[in-house]
Amino acid sequence: MNLRSAEEVLRWGCETYGIRFAIVSSFQKEGVILIDMAARLGLTARVITIDTGRLPAETLAMIDTVESRYNMRVERLRPEPAELERMTRQFGPDLFRDEVALRKLCCQVRKVRPLDIAMIGLDAYAVGLRREQSESRQDTELVALVDGRQKLSPLAAWTSADVESYLRQHSVPIHPLYASGYATIGCAPCSRPVQAGEDLRAGRWWWELEGDKECGLHLTPEGKIERRLDVLLRDVVGTHA
Ligand code: SF4
Repeated sequence: MNLRSAEEVLRWGCETYGIRFAIVSSFQKEGVILIDMAARLGLTARVITIDTGRLPAETLAMIDTVESRYNMRVERLRPEPAELERMTRQFGPDLFRDEVALRKLCCQVRKVRPLDIAMIGLDAYAVGLRREQSESRQDTELVALVDGRQKLSPLAAWTSADVESYLRQHSVPIHPLYASGYATIGCAPCSRPVQAGEDLRAGRWWWELEGDKECGLHLTPEGKIERRLDVLLRDVVGTHA
């Protein structure tokens, strides 16, 4: 376990950027390890989460548990009410089941846009990404400059065994849905347990078939080609992604 560098990276982010640094967590194992690590190092770090409005009750309870265990307040980002209202009025609350572009619209309105707004107040943030988690994360760096901000992944080099060992050693609170077979935990309607041997991705948006790519390209009256998602976003939030 590369504990030293994880701690060093977290300390560097926290001490260098102060209140313009935050741990961004969805209360999965890795995110809570970062919160625990900051507390044990005596660091005062802001903790931000996105309350999409569709989180499982277990995640909301987990936030309470973490606040009480570490004696701190988690900052909850929420979707903009007018955007949410326009989206659900137009497409219904469970639009994510209907087509890939609508699922992406829901993620934009409930998650991406609130986080984008919070990012304006940050120069650096830490997340719980690990290289081992997926092929797309294999190149995760401990510190990377992303869109003008320092993105810290202190656990980049950690294995699953490192994670489990840290959790045990420090009695870190664990999200209760892991015990029900969840490998990753997001919104309630879009997360499910995975079977042994199943890809981790099988636990998210499982109704979207592999290769079920967003196919909708649209022509504007001026003859410009737009993605379906851009068209939906303009309708709901009045802007492009
Ligand atoms: S994960 Fe599902 S419910 Fe949550 S924002 Fe994305 S599509 Fe919407």
